Amino acid sequence: MHQKTVTVDKLLSSTLLVVAPHMDDEVIGCGGLMLLHKDKSRLHCIYASDGKKSPIPLLPWQHHPDSDLAEIRELESREALTEIGMPLENAVTLGLPDGRLSRSSRELKHRLEKEICRIEPQFIFIPFRYDLHSDHVAVHRAIRELKRNARISGTILEYFIYFRWRLIDGGDIRRRIPEEKLTEIDISSVSLAKRRALSRYRSQTSIFYPWQETPVLTEERVQQRCREPESFLVADPAESLLSCFSAGKYWLLFAHYVERLGKRRKDQLVAFFSRVWRPFVHSRS
Ligand SMILES: [Zn+2]
Repeated sequence: MHQKTVTVDKLLSSTLLVVAPHMDDEVIGCGGLMLLHKDKSRLHCIYASDGKKSPIPLLPWQHHPDSDLAEIRELESREALTEIGMPLENAVTLGLPDGRLSRSSRELKHRLEKEICRIEPQFIFIPFRYDLHSDHVAVHRAIRELKRNARISGTILEYFIYFRWRLIDGGDIRRRIPEEKLTEIDISSVSLAKRRALSRYRSQTSIFYPWQETPVLTEERVQQRCREPESFLVADPAESLLSCFSAGKYWLLFAHYVERLGKRRKDQLVAFFSRVWRPFVHSRS
């Protein structure tokens, strides 16, 4: 059964839960929808990770993020949610290790199930199944598995964070999904408010440390995400993951593997230098 019965009106008056791997994903992917919602007391958010890995230094033997980065990001999320008008008591942080959610999959699933059964949302927003960040994919898998095993109820919609793929024509994976599978929301009336909410994440949208060359979220990306409509894929967990594409499925699967590998290689390089160089520098100091 295809679940294209989700109307924007229905979304804007229902109990919604946004599951965000990191603090800021909820605003980037769903901020406009949250701002347009008619009853903010029905908005909920679960942050899966502690957010300690962003910004991450490129020269970790020389530069260090604040030891209280998790607290900084949590404070920013409170400010962002206040901009949106969501009650702060509706936000939950699981505090699992940033960048390693796939290694905490059992705990992630267990704690998500507990929270979702308490909140009882009608709609659950999770990252797109073929996102390029491993934490995003881990959250997607956890929710999908809970839903398939009937451990949670609620319709699942997928939001888009890392949708730029260099290997495909046009570079935007959303364009490879048939329109009828996507629910699109015009956010032009709240784009400035979304911008304000996103700007609260100063650690992500500004050069937060002197050693940064660019912000984690560039001005161009912030502007784009606050201007563009937000689109959501209505997921049917009974269907295969590839069913969201109408053509070129196996090429897209391969492209996703390569794109993710590219991102992972970059992350691994940073981690490698961190491990190799830090003890060396410390033994000399
Ligand atoms: Zn994220």
